[in-house]
Amino acid sequence: SAIPSIILNDGNVIPQLGFGVFQVPDDEVTPVVTAALEAGYRSIDTAAIYGNEEGTGRAIREFGLPRDEVYVTTKLWNADQGFDSTLRAFDTSMKKLGLDYVDLYLIHWPVAQADRYIDTFRAFQALKSQGRIKSIGVSNFTVAHLERLIGETGETPVVNQIELHPRLAQRELRDFHAGHAIATEAWGPLGQGTLLDDPTITSIAAAVGRTPAQVIIRWHLQLGNIVIPKSVTPSRIAENLDVFAFELSRDQLDAINALDNNGRVGAHPDTMT
Ligand code: NAD
Repeated sequence: SAIPSIILNDGNVIPQLGFGVFQVPDDEVTPVVTAALEAGYRSIDTAAIYGNEEGTGRAIREFGLPRDEVYVTTKLWNADQGFDSTLRAFDTSMKKLGLDYVDLYLIHWPVAQADRYIDTFRAFQALKSQGRIKSIGVSNFTVAHLERLIGETGETPVVNQIELHPRLAQRELRDFHAGHAIATEAWGPLGQGTLLDDPTITSIAAAVGRTPAQVIIRWHLQLGNIVIPKSVTPSRIAENLDVFAFELSRDQLDAINALDNNGRVGAHPDTMT
């Protein structure tokens, strides 16, 4: 397919555009992930806390692609941080997914007050050395958390998955990532839907003859972000992948960049426990 790849700092490769399953119930997620695979997505993003690893894994296994042709990400939940508890939580996730390995395992939130993300990442390193995780990364880390993690473990996470969309463009973190070969992965890439009626977005969409969702996804791709939009509607699932036959101009990118106003839709990493 036409989905570009991003080469991670450990040499592994992730599709730049993937599919997220936040808030899709386990008993509804199997046909949704199947629709995404049918549309051509080859990267699926779930998490233990989403409660849908079983239905997600079932869709991936029953679709029947060779295992190395689909990229699977899951995440360790906050309450499971710590060395031994991470090993146990990873086993639980793998049983639910029904897979031998995951491509990417993420620390879901830093939870810095608990002060366990260093031990957690050491457990990730151990699981990686056993071949059960191909790449290890983090989510919702700030520059301060990243600096400490790299300093204390000597290993740089391959990605930091952060809330990122036109109203929260995360320039400081993206600059830090660029300086440390950390790939930026955008969650809530459409502002969880809140950006789709923004007049700047809708006017650019009209100008290029595309939908607002396609324009925003294109902005992410042209910025170099890994992006994982979510929809449960098959037509929108396909629409969000149909973004490789047009480009935004420099002026259109700049107009979208001007929407950045610290407009966070999710929790702040320093307050999430
Ligand atoms: P999103 O920005 O992808 O928005 C999803 C919503 O936008 C949908 O529920 C739907 O209402 C709407 N939408 C999607 N496509 C559309 C289209 N073509 N036309 C009209 N409306 C459309 O929000 P998200 O699901 O929160 O983020 C994407 C993924 O990121 C999640 O599914 C999850 O995998 C991941 N995520 C990670 C974290 C984290 O802490 N690491 C947090 C939230 C989400």
